[in-house]
Amino acid sequence: MPAIHAIRTGLVKVRRAQMESRGTGAARIAHMLFDEEWSEWLPIYAWVIEHDEGLIVVDTGETSRVHEKGYHPSWHPFYRRAVNFSVHPEEEIGPQLRARGIAARDVRQVVLTHLHTDHAGGLIHLTGSKMWVASEELRRASGFGGRVQGYLPHRWPKWWQPESVRFEDRPLGPFQQCMSLTKRGDVLVIPTPGHTPHHISVVVCGSPSYLIAGDTSYNQRLLVEGKVDGVSPDVEVSRQTLTRIRALAKERPLVYLPSHDPESEQRLVRNSLLEEKTGEILSVTELAS
Ligand SMILES: [Zn+2]
Repeated sequence: MPAIHAIRTGLVKVRRAQMESRGTGAARIAHMLFDEEWSEWLPIYAWVIEHDEGLIVVDTGETSRVHEKGYHPSWHPFYRRAVNFSVHPEEEIGPQLRARGIAARDVRQVVLTHLHTDHAGGLIHLTGSKMWVASEELRRASGFGGRVQGYLPHRWPKWWQPESVRFEDRPLGPFQQCMSLTKRGDVLVIPTPGHTPHHISVVVCGSPSYLIAGDTSYNQRLLVEGKVDGVSPDVEVSRQTLTRIRALAKERPLVYLPSHDPESEQRLVRNSLLEEKTGEILSVTELAS
């Protein structure tokens, strides 16, 4: 069973209505920008899977360059109004991997759940790895259209040339397709559309299994309650993904690891399961480790 490590690459604060959608249509976006209430400081996690076929990193976290004037487009309402970052240089993924004795060349594969800045901000540290991204996500995030959507394609390293995820028709529970990252077939990429239309997640299979979930929800409670975030362009698509994740947890013991849940790291250490108890009511139990 491969070991998984959580790497916290700084903190982010968003408005409550980004974590949990309020209103419908254009009002959802207005709430996300103008909601009075802010979240607490939330972690920005990247993950390392120590697999004997080679190290796999999921997401690259954020860069401390967010504190440079002009790093974010000042014309963009999201960056003007709706987000705050706190990232120290030593919190970036590069220095944190080095502190664990891992050099960039040791990382065989990198998977990006999606290309929002707090997931792609550490790309510069991961030269030489095979990078995986959903091709439609790359298309959405590129160029001026991407910048309007809040992506920062002009900040990606010039050398960056990711591979496209190619799903096979091989079901994993309620997910109809997946792509294996290992010969053994125990680390899988699955489609988890919602937060972005081509968002992907990584499942490390074992007992328990781990779902490295990117931004499918901001925390486990929101998943359990089926609450869609304020970012998802299609609420129904997002809701279906949340339902599928809960169904997967019903089939196999599953630890849920979203990027911004302050409890993700503790759940990983304690193997705290997302487990269906009765009917639609879910609760969290702890597996004796
Ligand atoms: Zn995101």
